[in-house]
Amino acid sequence: MLLPLQVPGPVEAVIQVSHSGGSSVPLQLGAISISRAKPAIPLAADVPRVIIGAKTDRHLVALTFDLDMTPQMAAQLQRGMVGGWINQDALGVLRSSGTPATLFMTGMWAELYPGLARALAEEPQFEIENHSYSHPAFHLPCYLLGGVSPAGAAWQLSHAQAVLRRITGVTPRYFRFPGGCYDAAALDAVHSAGLIPVEWTVNGMDAFNPNASGVAAAVMAQVRPGAIVMLHLQGGPNAPATGSALRIIIPALRQRGYRLVTVGELLRGAVALQPPDPNQAVQAYQPTPAPIPTPWNPPAGSLVQVPVWRQAPAARTIQVLPCWRWNQARRIWLRC
Ligand SMILES: [Zn+2]
Repeated sequence: MLLPLQVPGPVEAVIQVSHSGGSSVPLQLGAISISRAKPAIPLAADVPRVIIGAKTDRHLVALTFDLDMTPQMAAQLQRGMVGGWINQDALGVLRSSGTPATLFMTGMWAELYPGLARALAEEPQFEIENHSYSHPAFHLPCYLLGGVSPAGAAWQLSHAQAVLRRITGVTPRYFRFPGGCYDAAALDAVHSAGLIPVEWTVNGMDAFNPNASGVAAAVMAQVRPGAIVMLHLQGGPNAPATGSALRIIIPALRQRGYRLVTVGELLRGAVALQPPDPNQAVQAYQPTPAPIPTPWNPPAGSLVQVPVWRQAPAARTIQVLPCWRWNQARRIWLRC
């Protein structure tokens, strides 16, 4: 269970990790000086509420990679249950192909890999952005993530910002919600922290997915000019096929005439693409198990399994592109 890190002032942070077996392991992450959340800052009229891509006809695509770290993941690492939470294979593909990428890094990941975090920040092809401190949900339900209080959300934002600045030397401008889950209050919190929320146009579906060709299919079937593609770089059992998928995706995108850029470059001088109603609560969810096409050879207009964006039950229905609808009878996703 993830305890909300709700703190009124400077404290010593000890995160308690509960496991399914019932045992509880204290995970000491060191003394952390915590400051109160910054007061809300007025937003310039042209600051996007939440970005899901760029409005452009130019063949630009931003590949983005989340570097998740939860107390549970840190405990797995500490116990030797995983070899590491960095996908060296995927990182090697990005480096050897010279592919620019935006890395949404959790503060806790940077604390566990400070040398690598700094090295990535110093490589010109990578852009470091904020993915919270310990990856809680900012809106529930959100997969199996635990939630945070409003004060905990503010702390997650400001503390990750401080940790990333200290370790990498970079001050992030963008924030990605863990699980992509947010509501209006969460958006307010991000803007109050001086950050701009960035979601995605295309979910590459590499989380907990060993099927590299399925990941590539999800990306290639949905990509379009100005798209932001969401993938993961922490590897391990949480995203095992990202490297193999990149070996398909990067050449395929270039073959289609796409230039790969960071989110910062994608948005430079471009109008941000936003959801139709950016204030609606959104929950990204993983549908119940459905077949993923393999191998990747989708003809035009073919169907692929992709997650859809869904609102919280109480909110009214909206569509966020790309729109796919689950067909229960055929057990496939159909394009709206
Ligand atoms: Zn994440």
